[in-house]
Amino acid sequence: MIAHREPSLREVDPALFDLIQHEDQRQRDSLRLIASENYASLAVLAATGSSLTNKYAEGYPGRRYYEGMDYIDPVEELAIARARQLFSAEHANVQPYSGSPANLAALLALCQPGDTIMGLSLPAGGHLTHGWKVSATGIYYNAVQYGVRRSDHRIDMDELRELALKHRPRLIWCGHSAYPRELDFPAFAAIAREVGAYLAADIAHIAGLIAGGAHPSPVPHADVVTTTTHKTLRGPRGGLILCKESHAKAIDKAVFPGLQGGPHNHSTAAKAVAFHEALQPSFRDYAHAIVANARALAAALIERDHVLVTGGTDNHIVLLDLTRLGIGGRRAAHALNLCGIELNANTIPFDPRKPFDPSGLRIGLAAITSRGLQPEHMPAVARLLDDALQVAARVGDGEPDSAVTSPLRGRVRELLSPFPAPGL
Ligand SMILES: *Cc1c(COP(=O)(O)O)cnc(C)c1O
Repeated sequence: MIAHREPSLREVDPALFDLIQHEDQRQRDSLRLIASENYASLAVLAATGSSLTNKYAEGYPGRRYYEGMDYIDPVEELAIARARQLFSAEHANVQPYSGSPANLAALLALCQPGDTIMGLSLPAGGHLTHGWKVSATGIYYNAVQYGVRRSDHRIDMDELRELALKHRPRLIWCGHSAYPRELDFPAFAAIAREVGAYLAADIAHIAGLIAGGAHPSPVPHADVVTTTTHKTLRGPRGGLILCKESHAKAIDKAVFPGLQGGPHNHSTAAKAVAFHEALQPSFRDYAHAIVANARALAAALIERDHVLVTGGTDNHIVLLDLTRLGIGGRRAAHALNLCGIELNANTIPFDPRKPFDPSGLRIGLAAITSRGLQPEHMPAVARLLDDALQVAARVGDGEPDSAVTSPLRGRVRELLSPFPAPGL
């Protein structure tokens, strides 16, 4: 038989190819403000789509259960060395499949089932995996949740200390998915030390800001630091754990064989690429540009009489309180999406509405900063948000008409057209 060229994805599976093409176009054309999302570079995408996905590699470099590690070991060693350098960490485990498994591995390494753990509650901006009831971390551990102050919606360190003294947790989580302010890691560490708890910092959202020097690092203060690699860090979907050398053995054992089987080598390779990109001087500019854009957007929204949780931001997140506009978060997010603006409804602290239809919108600046938008463009972004919110308020429970949404979509495309989407 004559050897034929192997058919492409387009040829093998036109239906799926078509869906991916459409998603590419959607990501080019929409104003992507989901705070946990970004655009990975072409280099990161290339590593993700490589032959490394074919290889099994249970174990760690030099200690594997399979043959053929000639290139997989150096790939993982490179990822580890770069992660350690990027975050000045004593030890790095680059195998967690994502942020949630990384957090479970940290708990498996440092706690016994039934131990008391503490974390920021979900409605206050924390993550499910910090002990929320429906999460495995809230089912297998005795989770106590701390919150934010009623007066200024900042994390209440006094309440945290009192709860820690009362409940004597084995481990305290700090970190968030929807909190627009800087975290005081030395203060968390002091409380953990006082009550004899481990401090685990989950930097899933802010890892890129930390890597680029635009947010303080928890690495010198925390026993363990966990993160995703695909949010502000701009890598592939994945997780990463950093820790003190004294916890290295326990962490590695918890990830494999405790929780996972073979590592996803193609993701490990793509993480290595992302760490390499984040080690370049230009990434420092990127991280600072994210915060500058977030501050500029916050100022422009306040100028348009919008109410922001905590009154502003120190990071990549702006939390908009819709209460004064009289619309629910879900309707607002849905209407904005029809206008080409992609974000998510989010609870605000002490939210009077239900979590499924909360009172806030979470706005993240990492993705549009990756496209190159600058603070000078933020008044235009604020105007688009404002106009789209007016549309949402006008239609109430109805669906906005395309005669109203189309011009807004056009304005979004016009704003974005000078800024090509990386990777696409
Ligand atoms: C996104 C996030 C995670 C979970 O990451 P997945 O990769 O979705 O599992 C964990 N912690 C925090 C704080 C997050 O924001």
